Amino acid sequence: MGMHGGFGGSGRGAAARLARRTGTGGPSEDRHPVRRSTVLRVGRLFRPYRRQVLVVLLILVVVALLGVVNPYMLKLIIDDAFLHRSIRLLLIFVGIMVITPVISTALGVWQTYLNAVVGQRVMQDLRIALYSHLQRLPLRFFTATRTGEIQSRLANDVGGVDNVITNTATSIVSNLTRAAATIAGMLVLSWQLTLLSLALLPLFILVTVRVGEIRRRVSSDTQATLADLSALAEETLSVSGILLTKVFGRETFARQRYARETGRLTALMIRQQMVGRWFFGFISTFFSIIPAIVYLVAGAMLFGAHQGGHAGFNTSGANSIGTIVAFTTLQSGLFFPLGQLLNIQVEIQGAFALFDRIFEYIDLPLEIVDRPGALAIPRGEIRGAVSFESVRFHYERDVGAAAVEDVSFRAEPGQLVALVGPSGAGKTTLTYLLARLYDVDQGRVCIDGHDLRDLTLATVQEAMAIVTQEVFLFHSTIRENLLVGRPEATPEEVEAAGRAAAIHDRIMELPQGYDTVAGERGYRLSGGEKQRIALARAILKDPRILVLDEATSALDTHSERQVQTALDRLMEGRTTLAIAHRLSTVMAADQILMMERGRIVERGTHAQLLAQGGAYARLYLEQFAGQPVAAAAG
Ligand code: ADP
Repeated sequence: MGMHGGFGGSGRGAAARLARRTGTGGPSEDRHPVRRSTVLRVGRLFRPYRRQVLVVLLILVVVALLGVVNPYMLKLIIDDAFLHRSIRLLLIFVGIMVITPVISTALGVWQTYLNAVVGQRVMQDLRIALYSHLQRLPLRFFTATRTGEIQSRLANDVGGVDNVITNTATSIVSNLTRAAATIAGMLVLSWQLTLLSLALLPLFILVTVRVGEIRRRVSSDTQATLADLSALAEETLSVSGILLTKVFGRETFARQRYARETGRLTALMIRQQMVGRWFFGFISTFFSIIPAIVYLVAGAMLFGAHQGGHAGFNTSGANSIGTIVAFTTLQSGLFFPLGQLLNIQVEIQGAFALFDRIFEYIDLPLEIVDRPGALAIPRGEIRGAVSFESVRFHYERDVGAAAVEDVSFRAEPGQLVALVGPSGAGKTTLTYLLARLYDVDQGRVCIDGHDLRDLTLATVQEAMAIVTQEVFLFHSTIRENLLVGRPEATPEEVEAAGRAAAIHDRIMELPQGYDTVAGERGYRLSGGEKQRIALARAILKDPRILVLDEATSALDTHSERQVQTALDRLMEGRTTLAIAHRLSTVMAADQILMMERGRIVERGTHAQLLAQGGAYARLYLEQFAGQPVAAAAG
């Protein structure tokens, strides 16, 4: 139970972070520490695909080695084929130069395919793991987290992981192997020239890192300004914002503020583009200058060797011309992978930030789970006695007043308990506690004398059906919406439930009968029809205990009567805990609980409470009197 506060907190913290993030663009902008535990955990995700990963690594190494082949062929062509005017050698070397890229390309395609397979599969695994975990999280999580955020993690974050796997990871390995193979090739050709080129490397690294830092700073400033700007627009262009602006004549002020922020953004954007431009300018200049220096030094050594023959590097005549050409070719291919590696750090941070966000959700405690050895009662053996014993409940631990305080009552099997009282009195909360959507802080809620926490969740779910005010239909056929109640029901049982809920005839009038698609974007059913479908769903489930939040919205007399018929059938013989909005329900109740501020303030039957002349009597005059009593007190 100690998790309560932390739970809500983590949900909100995550929400706040997301809000910042959606404002601040890509996750790569965040300075995010890469934790060892995250790395290991990400590694485990790849375990089922280790064979593919191994092949990818092999391909990357082979491709890197192949990258050294053509520069070396250059040397052979110049030093051997040209020098000896050998057509045969020329054909062989040129042939190799043609075949190498063909093989490289083919291997590259294969690697891309394997990458895609691994990336997509890992993503699929993560998505399913995340979804099934989310599903099992308590209601508390969903009330404390914005829907948009949950969807974003499921869609964007998991989606971003694909990019990480297919691009970032391979980029690291391929650049590393390419750089290593290139340096090895350079060393083989001439260790002196290699040292010379690498001597300039620190300068290159220094500039790259420095520019990277500036870029990161500018871009995070840019993203922050963008976020401010959209927050400003959202605020001032909302209905209330506009109203305030207009009524107080603050248009000019608002416009100036907006213009100021936009001006900042413009300056930052220009800066961002220029930092990038400088960087690429630097790199390309560097690439061009280095070979020039190498030619200079190599040339000097070559001449020196010719004239004085002193030791420089292995220069047996024209042999070294090929070496120098091959060397500079190799070398020009060295700095690109190095630059990439230096920049990739940002991407790695972003990637692990993504994984952390996903893991954060996967690690949220489930809170409401079967305790070890929880009791499972077969469906048929539940009698349906309900009791609350000194129940106390806070939505947020130690924050504010309890939503439910010192609530005790009993409902014998088949009885109807009606909850009435002003809004915010805790009626809905009581129904949630009975369904074990939340666990109580103190006291106990029991079915047939068993604490809900001692029963399996499945037992509680089996025993109970909930009909809420807002009827929710999945975007699916009416049949499937009914089958939610009992998936294994036969078509006859579905229709029987439809009849019992007085909705069968109406369904048969629809274009495809029970196979008509209902739900948000489906066939538009009226409020009364939706209510009856919800009741039919509960009838089909045939639970021992019914939790009912009666609709407040007024229906026309005809629909009202049909809903009433359906309700009567549904409540028949079941223990019902109803948030009552209908006069007929309170009049039929075995017990009415009048609630105020989380407590039961009066209890009794309609007649008793009316005679008592207290809070219920007043409520009755306000809320129920004047309602048709139609088939009431049946
Ligand atoms: P009723 O159904 O009688 O209108 P509720 O049971 O919905 O009352 O609410 C009881 C109290 O609990 C109210 O003060 C309400 O503000 C609070 N409450 C309801 N839901 C939540 C929630 N998810 N988080 C925090 N407080 C809540």
